[in-house]
Amino acid sequence: MTKPQTFLALNWKMNKTPSESVQWAEELLDKLGDLNIKLAIMAPSVSLAGLSGVLGDAQVGLGAQDISQHESGAYTGEVSAAMLKDLGVQYAVIGHSERREYHFESDAVVAAKAVQAIKNGIVPIVCVGEKLPEREKGEHVSYTLNQLRGSLAGVELKSADDLVIAYEPVWAIGTGKTATAQDAEELCAAIRGVLKELYPQFADQIVVQYGGSVKPDNISEICSQPNVNGALVGGASLQVAGVVGMVEAL
Ligand code: PEP
Repeated sequence: MTKPQTFLALNWKMNKTPSESVQWAEELLDKLGDLNIKLAIMAPSVSLAGLSGVLGDAQVGLGAQDISQHESGAYTGEVSAAMLKDLGVQYAVIGHSERREYHFESDAVVAAKAVQAIKNGIVPIVCVGEKLPEREKGEHVSYTLNQLRGSLAGVELKSADDLVIAYEPVWAIGTGKTATAQDAEELCAAIRGVLKELYPQFADQIVVQYGGSVKPDNISEICSQPNVNGALVGGASLQVAGVVGMVEAL
């Protein structure tokens, strides 16, 4: 199987003002050489317009951190997929564990958001992963695969490029505890198994990322696993030097 191109997605979470975002992106573009991987910034929604102007058609893509499950209408505070698309947004993180935990997003909501994204030409990065209790009980694989099936219910693809999955064990997010490369491979391979059932013609080429305390000194080993096609990175994505370090390591 030829691996899909490695995809490094930077999840800034609720960090950087719009002007800091623009300054940061200009500095990154200055320091990056030619890329042989896919790279994209997942920014807070208020920073997307400014970033879109800076990134333009450059080699760094642009993503949102969430998307509404609704098309349009009386949903105060929500941002629709069509609005994001109009700004030049190409990706959206969907179902991040922080949204599942603090905003009570169910698998059904995550699936509805993924459908909206794809319908509007935005690639959803659908996040799944177990918490510590499931890992300790040895139920991490079944838990994560159930979550994956629920999060993809009704999600139809026209090509492998329509969808990205991020396996993010919650116990490894922002904690400094990275899953081993073998742990990441175990789950990413299991995820690909489910993708083969759901999307047999595309599964080999769907990007499956790992996320959880990835940084310049561990990214290469993790991403060289057969079923790991990149990373979704939080903390280490905030400094330009960290991002350049990860790009150079890949
Ligand atoms: C994340 O927020 O998706 C993430 C993986 O964070 P961190 O890299 O800080 O663990």
